Amino acid sequence: MITPSALKKLAAKHGTPLFVVDHAELRANYAMFKKYLPRVQAYYAVKANSDPAIVRTLYQAGASFDVASMPEFQTVYENIKHLPAKERQDWIWDKIIYANPIKPVETLRELNQYKPLVTFDNFEEIKKIKKFAPQAGLVLRLKVPNTGAMVELSSKFGASPGEAVDMILEADRLGLTVEGISFHVGSQTTNFENYVQAIALSSNIFNEAKDRGYNKMNLLDIGGGFPAPYDSSVKPFRELAKVINGELDRLFPTGVQILAEPGRFLCATTGTAVSKIVGKALRDGKLCYYINDGVYHTFSGVIFDHCHYHLKSFKKGPTQICSIFGPTCDALDVVSMAENLPDLELDDLLYSEQIGAYSHASSTYFNGFPPATVVHVNQK
Ligand SMILES: *Cc1c(COP(=O)(O)O)cnc(C)c1O
Repeated sequence: MITPSALKKLAAKHGTPLFVVDHAELRANYAMFKKYLPRVQAYYAVKANSDPAIVRTLYQAGASFDVASMPEFQTVYENIKHLPAKERQDWIWDKIIYANPIKPVETLRELNQYKPLVTFDNFEEIKKIKKFAPQAGLVLRLKVPNTGAMVELSSKFGASPGEAVDMILEADRLGLTVEGISFHVGSQTTNFENYVQAIALSSNIFNEAKDRGYNKMNLLDIGGGFPAPYDSSVKPFRELAKVINGELDRLFPTGVQILAEPGRFLCATTGTAVSKIVGKALRDGKLCYYINDGVYHTFSGVIFDHCHYHLKSFKKGPTQICSIFGPTCDALDVVSMAENLPDLELDDLLYSEQIGAYSHASSTYFNGFPPATVVHVNQK
């Protein structure tokens, strides 16, 4: 972790709002994922933080990638474009999954040349893939319980278990190859039971497909959802890994390749935001600080990610409950209604830790305020 004094120095050098990415932390998170889930190939979900430097560090560490748009594909591709054509093709085969179940026709047309692995969850998509990307390998996205996840995804994506094998057989009838099953248990899943149920559901689909004559599946993608350690209520990763490993070994013996698409788990703890107090007012007896970063910028996760970030002060002293507002004129731009902070002055700095996922990636230029400056530390 970056120390407060190092943060202060970086803010003095680069100004605020500042978004600091610690690449040593990123490498450590990736190493931890590999250590506790040795059977699982980790495809970093680029949408969690698509900064090219983050993608590069993970590429260097040996990660694979989950992309969901052509720009994300390009960000990954930048790292391999120097490779000879054959090697590049093999790398894409082995290390990229296009995991957006809905793909525009233009995207499929472009993807086809790379023969990528792509997910699908409906009959219309099978027809589209057949017509515009017949060289792609298919992975069926299954709808699974998202109980207790901070961000639930099951209402938007996933074939229901009852129709899954019909879809697999239809793809097969059209001459496409369904290589396996994927699911997503919901982001920041602290309810480990979701993984247990999803792995069991997937196993049922494998068996039903075999019973109905389809034998070509050899891949299980257990998706994202691995929780970041935002607070002490999140159980250690090794406990979740133990549950997952047990279920994988029981229901998916060797021979089936296991993938995962961790996003938040890899990048959440790598990011720290530093902002400056640009206004101060007393409203209805409550102290209100206005800072130069907000929910249209690095704190976008307050809105899009249902996340709450704490703000810390570099100063000590008796604290009181106060509100923190972003810089725009929109009433929505509220970072927190209850932070415990000492009495601060204009130009004092605040910082927020563990803000590396689903934050800077969805910054806007709303109201004329640009996204925070990004600084990378501990890059190799
Ligand atoms: C967003 C997303 C992920 C990453 O989810 P996390 O909860 O951040 O790990 C993985 N796979 C798919 C298909 C996604 O949409």
